[in-house]
Amino acid sequence: MRKLCYVGIDLGGTTVKAVRLADDEVGVVERIPTLGRESPGRILDDIAHLVTKVAAGASIASVGIAMPGLVDPVTGSNSFAGNLRWRDVAVREELEKRLKVPVVAENDANAAALGEHSHGLTVGVSDFLFLSLGTGIGGGVFAGGHLLSGCRGAAGEIGHMILSPQGPRCSCGSNGCLEALAGGWAIIRDAQAAIKQGQETVLNRLAACGEPLDVKAVAEAARSNDAVAREIICRALFWLGLGVANAVNLLNPSLVVLGGGLSLMGDPLLEAVRDAVATYGMPTQRESVRIELSQLKDYAGVLGAVELARRSQII
Ligand SMILES: [Zn+2]
Repeated sequence: MRKLCYVGIDLGGTTVKAVRLADDEVGVVERIPTLGRESPGRILDDIAHLVTKVAAGASIASVGIAMPGLVDPVTGSNSFAGNLRWRDVAVREELEKRLKVPVVAENDANAAALGEHSHGLTVGVSDFLFLSLGTGIGGGVFAGGHLLSGCRGAAGEIGHMILSPQGPRCSCGSNGCLEALAGGWAIIRDAQAAIKQGQETVLNRLAACGEPLDVKAVAEAARSNDAVAREIICRALFWLGLGVANAVNLLNPSLVVLGGGLSLMGDPLLEAVRDAVATYGMPTQRESVRIELSQLKDYAGVLGAVELARRSQII
């Protein structure tokens, strides 16, 4: 008899990651580029090939896929996926057609929270908040041991918590959302504005050399005491801390895990969020919460996706 396995997929704006789980062992994570300009159909073809490749001849029991935006928990359709610019793509149905195995779909931050719960810092923790800090800001909430889904699978959207209604425009159409104040795209927007205004900063040199102006470059400039970059990063971290403090007051988690690309900023990020929670948290909530950086780097989503596949066969 052929060995049985589960496959997890993390569909990101630039990379698709895949991993298999067989005999309770997680395999090596494979990656392919998303090729964002291709049609959803081509990307789903690529994903189907990748699933077959990572299964490595084992019989696939089910596939879990994590993807950005709003994912309907019943139909597995992706009704809005910002960075991918997908709208109303029937991801679950299309993959099931290609693979002839059951597929489950989940929002990427929710899946990453599940990844933390099965492989990360929150194993055995029943009330926690996971923040996916990248180009955008996503959140996954575990309450009473269960992933909070909401009536249409859209719970946990901390990135669109409105902190400053007169603030900058957000990708969702509102103004002053946490993501528009502290997300990766907001940091880059502010850096580009500073360069355009002719402010004195090392970022001008980067732009002049044609080097990419990404969050890493702005954070590095801030670390080397560039006043303009420092102000941009400090402002973003202030808003991020305020957003987390609000979420801690609302949810009373025992642990907040900061993951995603921005979490690679490390201690400055951790200290800013801890300080904000100490300042703005209500006494009971702030005294009962720990704030930590994810140890899973950018693998929480794909590990959550494969766990999603495994759980779908148990329930
Ligand atoms: Zn928003």
